[in-house]
Amino acid sequence: MGKLFCLACREELSTKKSILKMHTKSAKHAKGKEVLNSKQKRELTIVEALQRHDKVKRPIGDTLPASTRVFRVQVVSAFLKAGIPLYKIDKLRGILESGGYSLSHSTHLRQLIPFILNEEMDILRQQLSGKCISIIFDGTTHVAEAFVVVVRYVDSEWVISQKVVQLLLLSKSLCGEEVARLLADVLSTKVGGPTKNIVAAMRDRASVNSVAMEQYMYCTTECSKSVACHIHWIMLVKR
Ligand SMILES: [Zn+2]
Repeated sequence: MGKLFCLACREELSTKKSILKMHTKSAKHAKGKEVLNSKQKRELTIVEALQRHDKVKRPIGDTLPASTRVFRVQVVSAFLKAGIPLYKIDKLRGILESGGYSLSHSTHLRQLIPFILNEEMDILRQQLSGKCISIIFDGTTHVAEAFVVVVRYVDSEWVISQKVVQLLLLSKSLCGEEVARLLADVLSTKVGGPTKNIVAAMRDRASVNSVAMEQYMYCTTECSKSVACHIHWIMLVKR
């Protein structure tokens, strides 16, 4: 006798009519269908993005079936989001491929990183479109300088979210003017379009950051408030 398998709930079902009726009316099945629909939509978005990407640049693997390419993008994205080094995919390849899709060696899979980054930035630009955002930026002052820009906003679920939009590793510290130029560049290219919804810029009280904000706010009307770190201010008062 044949078996029935519910794709939404990922489980085998009895072929009894009454049990099937009960199953299709259950809250668990409805929730499973919702998740499956959004998964299929996400996969379709990846396929469309890959097609756009192929037009600009023919990547290795573009002769593979779309489903295999989508699977590879999803695996690499999941490892990146979990902070797991991609070489570990090689150790888990057997179990990951048990779903029926093939992977490739991690040295090939890592070529998908620029594509995934572009997609993430596109998604972020869509999420930020029309929203008020604030930015937070700072750099280290030691050897192997790192400079980071973070955007902070309220997402569609009313949750306060923060995303790193730029992390630069520099050979020397930036001066105030350079920081201002970098901020303008990041906010126009990474955050996208006219960034007129920046309600505040947060930074510590290092003089380089103060100069940067003076320069940035002088050159643009996009940012309405410059907020210096209160902890630094309290420490100054204590002195
Ligand atoms: Zn079901």
